[in-house]
Amino acid sequence: MGAKGRTPLRPSAPELVSWDVTSRCNLRCVHCYATAGTEPAADDLGTAEAKRFISELADIGVFQLVLLGGEPFLRGDILTLIQYARACQLDVGLSTNGTLITPEVARQLADLGLNGVQVSIDSSRAEVHDQFRGVPGSWRKATYAARLLAGMGCKVIVATVITRLNIDDLPEMARLSAELGASEFRTVRFIPVGRGGAAANLMISPEQARDGARVLSDLQASYDGKLKVRPDESFPFLVSPGAWRMFCTAGVTTCAVRSNGDVTPCSYFDGPDFVAGNIRGHRFESIWRNSPILYAFREAPLLEGRCRECAFIESCRGGCRAAAWNAHHDFTAPDPYCWLVSRSV
Ligand code: SF4
Ligand code: SF4
Repeated sequence: MGAKGRTPLRPSAPELVSWDVTSRCNLRCVHCYATAGTEPAADDLGTAEAKRFISELADIGVFQLVLLGGEPFLRGDILTLIQYARACQLDVGLSTNGTLITPEVARQLADLGLNGVQVSIDSSRAEVHDQFRGVPGSWRKATYAARLLAGMGCKVIVATVITRLNIDDLPEMARLSAELGASEFRTVRFIPVGRGGAAANLMISPEQARDGARVLSDLQASYDGKLKVRPDESFPFLVSPGAWRMFCTAGVTTCAVRSNGDVTPCSYFDGPDFVAGNIRGHRFESIWRNSPILYAFREAPLLEGRCRECAFIESCRGGCRAAAWNAHHDFTAPDPYCWLVSRSV
């Protein structure tokens, strides 16, 4: 990438770090990037290591910590860690499958003043969600959790991974999110990595991405002021000229930390090739500042093909790098979900 790149950015710290707090999960989602399972997680950072890591993030000026999994509530110390991060003045977000949220947990989360609690719900229909998540009863528990958290005053974000099984369900998902008391309905792109690699056939086509973006744009207008509808990675600016421009922040202003302490540009880069370092062996700051892998992402490589002539190139930069890498094994390739690239659209 280096020869064709622009001047690399040298941010002293990421704005946001997402951390898979555990590799354990009580569900079996077909689209899981982390291949999370029920086996004991021998490699997860211990409480003392996790606290050291959290305080280093705060010391170097990281603004936001997002706790992912696996399922975070399978960690017995998760509330202790959130409390610690809040005491370190970090903004904290959390993503959960919602199956382990009790009234007492919801109350504690509300008291801890999280920036948002994201509850994953993949369909307005229980049977479709449960099929996705691999465990009957998951939808009932997730919707119960979302309602409970919202009732306690938490900012609830309903997040839906978009596939061929639910792309037609967007209006109903927005309706359900509002009914549950959520502040936001967010769509999440499906990138077939981890266990999701076996379900690549569930990816929507660029045509479906375009039609879905139009539906989301209409939903934004109709729920204005009542529910934030956030099309996470679906090129909203191609259907609504005033919409925010998405560009990939991986390794530039954000990065991810796996449950074993491996630092990567983004959670969607699996395997050993994208590990910038491990926080057990090195200070996070040193990895962030010195890793050649993260530098490669900051160089913003010039893209090939359709992107090069695109009016959005400066802000879009070819879309999601993990999706491009997954589809083409090439960082100069465009995002496979962009319909401007697809000749058939
Ligand atoms: S053609 Fe490339 S730069 Fe233009 S919107 Fe699509 S992915 Fe982004
Ligand atoms: S690689 Fe994709 S999912 Fe990760 S930060 Fe970039 S755009 Fe977002």
